Amino acid sequence: MIDVILKKGKEKAALQRHPWMFSGAIDKVKGSPVNGEVVVVRAADKEFLAYGYYNAQSRVAVRLLEWDESKIIDKEWYHLKIKNAIAARRHVLKDGNTNTCRLIFSEADFLPGLIVDQYADFLSLQILSAGMETIKEDIIAILKEELQPKGIFDKSDSSARTHENLEMAQGLLWGEMPPEFIEVKENGILYHINIAEGQKSGFYCDQRDNRRLLADYAEGKHVLDCFSYSGGFSLNSLSKGASHVTSVDSSALAIETLKHNVKLNGYNEDRQTSIQSDVNKQLRIFKEEDKKFDIIVLDPPKYAPSRSALDRAARAYKDLNRLAMHLLEPGGLLATFSCSGAVDIDTFKQIIAWAALDAGKEVQIIQQFCQPEDHPVRISFSEGEYLKGLLLRVL
Ligand code: SAH
Repeated sequence: MIDVILKKGKEKAALQRHPWMFSGAIDKVKGSPVNGEVVVVRAADKEFLAYGYYNAQSRVAVRLLEWDESKIIDKEWYHLKIKNAIAARRHVLKDGNTNTCRLIFSEADFLPGLIVDQYADFLSLQILSAGMETIKEDIIAILKEELQPKGIFDKSDSSARTHENLEMAQGLLWGEMPPEFIEVKENGILYHINIAEGQKSGFYCDQRDNRRLLADYAEGKHVLDCFSYSGGFSLNSLSKGASHVTSVDSSALAIETLKHNVKLNGYNEDRQTSIQSDVNKQLRIFKEEDKKFDIIVLDPPKYAPSRSALDRAARAYKDLNRLAMHLLEPGGLLATFSCSGAVDIDTFKQIIAWAALDAGKEVQIIQQFCQPEDHPVRISFSEGEYLKGLLLRVL
């Protein structure tokens, strides 16, 4: 195995079990590993630090896999990691009310660059590192053995692949082609999911717990669900007796799927309105119409893809939240989220404080939201923590 030797004093992150080794920390590569090859990372004094995937094309030159020198990174090693990750999700799936979740979450499950989502009997796979790409066939074989899915679909169409010099890929990997719409269940609510055309890997299962928490406040309330996608917050609110739900999303497919999901669950269609529009524009229209809501959900896409985009993103979050605060009945609730990893919870609170001041509102935090257990955060890898939110009472 090829040795990668770090510059003097650059071993701290690896010793602290951070899974990324940046190219700037490397002194020498003792050979010519191909992209994705497993190498040994050593400190300047040659002490063993970890095994990892090498990639000369990536800013993250080595993705660390294993810190125990005695381990061998073979099919058995992958099998154990995959088995452990699947076992950890049993709790999410245990009561039969949910049959969709993230089974493998990359670095958080010690499998950098591998994401596997379960959609009822189908699996969707995303490979985002050159290392994982080299053992794709083994991974498919292990998933077949462990889960006996009907089919495995490749959804490796993320732009993250370009950082690893990989082409985007999509299509059936094994088994049956999933139907255009797979029916799944989450919190006892049915959804149609289109893996091929849908966003991300088809469904935002990271909001499962937060949808349920929010719905607990929805009985008899008029809810505005902004960035509704296929209706996660809308459907949970309807299930808990919301008097009316207005859902806004700019995507035609999202709105079409949402409408379908309302019917699928047998909810009264008169209690739900779908609007295909830009949220910022729509909130301004509601303000002109002097419309008010009891509960507003703001679950926008990632506004800050990186730290450098933070200032612009902060202004966008502030404006969005300020607009929403004006549309609430006195004492109304605002469930506001950020899925930008670059915006931590303290920064997010500051942005909300800024929005409240601008809106002339007094705001109380009554709950804090985070990502669910199938999206764990490794304590040594805070970059894996991306989803945060606040439930606010706006006075
Ligand atoms: N709340 C959803 C997930 C939201 S994902 C759930 O529970 O499943 C973000 C959504 O925002 C996507 O559906 C996307 O189509 C939509 N979107 C992105 N920009 C938008 C904009 N400017 N106006 C309205 N919707 C937008």
